[in-house]
Amino acid sequence: MRKKIVAGNWKMNTTLNEGVGLAKDVNEALKNVTPKCDVIIAVPFTHLASINAVIDSNRLGLGAENCADHKSGAYTGEVSASMVASTGATYVILGHSERRQYYGETSETLKEKVSLAFENNLTPIFCIGEVLEERENGTYLDVVKKQIEDALFNLSAEDFGKIILAYEPVWAIGTGKTATDDQAEEMHAFIRGVIAKKYGDEVAENTSILYGGSCKPTNAAALFAKPNVDGGLIGGASLDAQSFMGIVTAF
Ligand code: PEP
Repeated sequence: MRKKIVAGNWKMNTTLNEGVGLAKDVNEALKNVTPKCDVIIAVPFTHLASINAVIDSNRLGLGAENCADHKSGAYTGEVSASMVASTGATYVILGHSERRQYYGETSETLKEKVSLAFENNLTPIFCIGEVLEERENGTYLDVVKKQIEDALFNLSAEDFGKIILAYEPVWAIGTGKTATDDQAEEMHAFIRGVIAKKYGDEVAENTSILYGGSCKPTNAAALFAKPNVDGGLIGGASLDAQSFMGIVTAF
């Protein structure tokens, strides 16, 4: 059975003190509920070790928002997968559209990052999604298929089975425009079919595919009710413990 997951992506928000406070609030709130999903927060590199020290890892998973595409060495300013793992984090978001758009990440660099994440026992939360023009010109299914094929289809079935996918239509990220439940379901079912064709039904059925893009407590339940939507990757609404918990408890 594939896992249901709600993961927060804090992006470049919160100072260290604010971030530790927010993580503590989420950790505390999780003591009072029995969530029907795994809960993860992906936070800035600078916060990882401090947050790892204050959360209960059985209740709340911890991840980075990126890692380098090289193992180590003369790459000033970069943070490697092994450095991320050394903080206690066990997840890493890779291929977020903001990284692709503003930092020129390609499927080739992402392949390296995925492989380094695995070498360091980090679970990739791998993002895919089309831009508005591709949604409007009807190429969105092909675009997402190609993103998956180009960056992930070099993996063995065993490694592919460890990936969490996040479908994030770029036009819905931070815009307040959510994909409808039916638009999300159409894409998620399509993605599962693409995986099944390459790796077989069992791998496809066991892959968690999260939806991301202006997901809020008010729309999460309807999205999560769709059979192929296995949870959410949450940006803005993860910066407030109460609204993040509103999404966690939408399952
Ligand atoms: C994201 O960036 O991963 C995201 C889903 O952002 P938001 O929820 O703010 O649209």
